[in-house]
Amino acid sequence: MKYVNDQPYRMLIDGRWTAGSADTLFPTYNPATGDVLAHVHAATARDVDAAVQAARRAYDTHWRNTTPRERARLLRRLAQLFERDTEKLAWIETLNVGKPITHSRESLAAMPASLDYFAGIIPAVRGDTIPLLNSASVLNFTLREPLGVCALVMPWNYPMTLTLHKLAPALAAGNTVVIKPSEITPLSTLAFAELFAEAGFPDGVINVVNGPGPEVGDALVRHPGVARVSFTGGTQTGAAISAAAAADFKRVTLELGGKSPLVVFEDAPLDAAVDVAAGDIIKNSGQVCIACTRLLVQNAVREAFLAKLESRLAAIRMGDPSDPTTQMGPLVSRSHADRVRRYLDIARQEGAAPRTYVDPSARPDTSRGFFVGPTLLLGATAHMRTSQEEIFGPVQSLIGFEDEDEAVRIANDTRYGLAAVVFTRDGGRALRMARRIEAGSIAINTGIRTSVDAPFGGYKASGIGKERGLEAIIENTQLKNIKYDTSL
Ligand code: NAD
Repeated sequence: MKYVNDQPYRMLIDGRWTAGSADTLFPTYNPATGDVLAHVHAATARDVDAAVQAARRAYDTHWRNTTPRERARLLRRLAQLFERDTEKLAWIETLNVGKPITHSRESLAAMPASLDYFAGIIPAVRGDTIPLLNSASVLNFTLREPLGVCALVMPWNYPMTLTLHKLAPALAAGNTVVIKPSEITPLSTLAFAELFAEAGFPDGVINVVNGPGPEVGDALVRHPGVARVSFTGGTQTGAAISAAAAADFKRVTLELGGKSPLVVFEDAPLDAAVDVAAGDIIKNSGQVCIACTRLLVQNAVREAFLAKLESRLAAIRMGDPSDPTTQMGPLVSRSHADRVRRYLDIARQEGAAPRTYVDPSARPDTSRGFFVGPTLLLGATAHMRTSQEEIFGPVQSLIGFEDEDEAVRIANDTRYGLAAVVFTRDGGRALRMARRIEAGSIAINTGIRTSVDAPFGGYKASGIGKERGLEAIIENTQLKNIKYDTSL
């Protein structure tokens, strides 16, 4: 079956698929081969304006006044269609992002439940009635209202799942949206967008514009018609978007980078801790914001931990992402693979010893694409650039520690605060660590797994605000206070 169109992909504005006002195309690639996979029409600032205007019209003329039941019905219908097309969407993600097909299938299979979840919790979004301190006759209450048009600016690592977790709560709260997928991996979002009309969403409620961040993304986040910007991506881009949005006080939610620690104490179940470390290097080739990239291991078990991890990494099946036995695919682009390799040079210059466990140049199916083998930085210390900066690839630093205080110090010695994992059989220590580590998500004796029903978002430079859970809908609303004098 053919999953990718021969014709250039268009964008969706006001319910119509359009080539945009400039009719310019950009290529998108298959990272496993380096070949061009498809061409995509790029938007101009005029197209962005048309999309925002369409979203605002849809919001004003009907969407803001739809009932919770109607919005829930459309989200559930979208969930059904997503379920029907999961296989196709999974293949598109594999071809465009380079994720092994088993991983694409697994992550997309969870999406209909996420849509259902947001459909189901709409009635939980409500205001309060608050007795006034000094009046018996005035009725004092709050209303939770939508914001208007939300701009959703997306990264390339999980195009489909991250888009869905922004889209569903924005719509559930009664907002309309303009999505800008990453210019590196736009195809699954564009295939998904074909389902909006079939699900019954009115024209203009969901729009999609394509193109590069500095032009199309920037025009979108600066547009005065946008009330809220929800962004997932790099910390530097997040800062630029935050500054642009501040000019007219748009709401912003930022899900940014991470440098998560995996803290392993000497009493830990070592095999389970090794599973998490190996899993985080394999999964999407380490291109995961919450991946544990700093392995902090108590000195007494460091060698034992390393020996087990090394044998796991050496056995990784790296290869063609369309092969169901492949565990690890390529990185997303040539420039990103080059960037990750540069970090290995930096590690050497800083005195660490990078050790790579699978050599992509040794096999025909990994010699052409953007593959980088799983790598540990041995002899790393907490202050090296490679321990501080987000590499966003299959690279982990191994750092020893003596005691709990030192583990906390190193874990928190980063500008990031997205997530952390702690392995220990001592319950008191586990909870002390959970409270002392500055991060938005903590997992004890298991890996970090985002789930639709738990709020997710970073501390420090890892972001602002929460996605998922009821908090995700609340972030998509504003609170109004009304006082009504019933004595008149
Ligand atoms: P990126 O910041 O380069 O790009 C993300 C999006 O922003 C793209 O759509 C891009 O076109 C757009 N963009 C770029 N410059 C812009 C500008 N000036 N104005 C408006 N939009 C602009 O990020 P990426 O490389 O696509 O993704 C990788 C990063 O995303 C990593 O740092 C990773 O940690 C982070 N990430 C975070 C989470 C999270 O939930 N915290 C999840 C996934 C990825």
